[in-house]
Amino acid sequence: MDIDQYYGAIIGSACGDTLGRATEFMRKGDILRFYGEQVTEYQPDRLSVFQYGEYTDDTYLMLCIANSLIDNECVNIYDLSNRFQHWLRTNGKDCGNMTYDAISLMMEGFDPIDSGRHAWEKTGKESAGNGGLMRNTSIPLFYANNFEGMLEASEFCCKITHFDNRCILSCLAHSIAMYAILHGYKVFDYMWAHCGERDDEFDDLLFEARDCKIKDFSLDGYDMGYTYLSLKVALCAVLNYDNFKDPIIEIVNQGGDADTNACIAGGLLGAKYGLKSIPKSWQDELLGFSDLYNVAEKIYNIANN
Ligand SMILES: [Mg+2]
Repeated sequence: MDIDQYYGAIIGSACGDTLGRATEFMRKGDILRFYGEQVTEYQPDRLSVFQYGEYTDDTYLMLCIANSLIDNECVNIYDLSNRFQHWLRTNGKDCGNMTYDAISLMMEGFDPIDSGRHAWEKTGKESAGNGGLMRNTSIPLFYANNFEGMLEASEFCCKITHFDNRCILSCLAHSIAMYAILHGYKVFDYMWAHCGERDDEFDDLLFEARDCKIKDFSLDGYDMGYTYLSLKVALCAVLNYDNFKDPIIEIVNQGGDADTNACIAGGLLGAKYGLKSIPKSWQDELLGFSDLYNVAEKIYNIANN
């Protein structure tokens, strides 16, 4: 394992998030009409909510988990709940519905162990968004030498806001993929062998991720934000491309939940190809670059000492 993989994962996910913000919730066909060309660099925010080069909720919440792990040297969901609440009170920009509902319950005094389940039950036990998956990146980095601990941590951190089994399985699968990348194992084979208790839909997404290109997926439809769709896109980026930049640009220009899809893919690709693979302008113009760099370094030192 190399520290460059840690820098690449943390900063790569933030770069994907920031680039993807330009096309978030757009239809694919509207992107060219609006921007006049493919989006390949950060853009000023269409709604003037974010500064130029600022990442979104995906990265802010990933950092809540990362800093909680660093300060506690383990998962502490009460500490994590306090960090989530602080973020929602002081920032909260672009917050997803399920995350908002679950953190609001925590603010009302619900135990975080129960908040995700209550919020999920209110949706009729149907909602399976990508809000747990989008912030998972630091967990497999932190537990890179503790496979069982990694799975337990991924499950706990997911279900305090996203209780659906598909959300939890997405986080476990994402962690297992990251684990394979960090250790130099073949990602598909390792996932096939180690992702347990899965459903047929999950197996289908693994095969599609292996056999397709990103442009084959429709990312701007009614199911944008579905956790299995975001997982499929990120795995496809890792399995079928040989660099960081091309799959991220392809994802971003498909529209839909572009910031989250590119954030998840960017974390895995960054771990695979390292910080040096990320375009210079995306690194230089990223707000908070040095904070992210320091977080990656701290996680590496705890995980590998
Ligand atoms: Mg976002």
